[in-house]
Amino acid sequence: MSGCEARDAKKLVRSPSGLRMVPEHRSARSPFGLDEPPWVPDKECPRCMQCDTKFDFITRKHHCRRCGKCFCDKCCSKKVPLPRMCFVDPVRQCAECALISQKESEFYDKQLKVLMNGATFFVTLGTSEKSELMVCRLSNNQRYLVLDGDSHYEIEIIQISTVQILTEGFTPGEKDTYAYTSLLESQHIPEGGNSRAIGMILQYKVPGSEELTQMKFTASEDFSCNKKLSASWLAAMHKATKLLYESRDQ
Ligand SMILES: [Zn+2]
Ligand SMILES: [Zn+2]
Repeated sequence: MSGCEARDAKKLVRSPSGLRMVPEHRSARSPFGLDEPPWVPDKECPRCMQCDTKFDFITRKHHCRRCGKCFCDKCCSKKVPLPRMCFVDPVRQCAECALISQKESEFYDKQLKVLMNGATFFVTLGTSEKSELMVCRLSNNQRYLVLDGDSHYEIEIIQISTVQILTEGFTPGEKDTYAYTSLLESQHIPEGGNSRAIGMILQYKVPGSEELTQMKFTASEDFSCNKKLSASWLAAMHKATKLLYESRDQ
């Protein structure tokens, strides 16, 4: 079995925040993962960091599992799934973090599956004139983009340095293609807006080489039934890019 599809061994670990199911080796962790934050020490937070209520025997303090800050029960009551930190069960989070985690659930529930199911693109490598029709998908362990056609490529997600999503306006006649996201900056495609993702340019490092390789993905015009699928795959990839940016930035 190739490295990209290996089912990495996992182990159950208990942290003060709860039970987590993590890969045996850190190198096998998801590129979308986040580390647990350090908890603000008890003695540094006499009051709730949201509503300023003083802690005592009746008003107990709780730590938000996502940001590690200290809150009263009222301000930190929601238990929300936090797959990016590998928690098995939903964990206690402050209101602000709960909102972010809830938005991320959409990525985990829907868009991650779209990425893993794959979509068809014309793929052009480097400055080549030729393009090849390939199915592109995210590997099950979330660590590789796998491309299958006459050729086969596996691009490790952590080697990707730039993701540009190419979009096109819906307005008839408006054929200008322009790029949104570059260098993993978290600008976003306006959701439900009048633009549609039609392609992607990746730059990545091939292990052992210092130079960046560029790969261009174009949604196929000939396979009209697949065009919608390609557009949702690209939108999911756009969201994934934002998560990657956060994971690297932590
Ligand atoms: Zn409070
Ligand atoms: Zn928080």
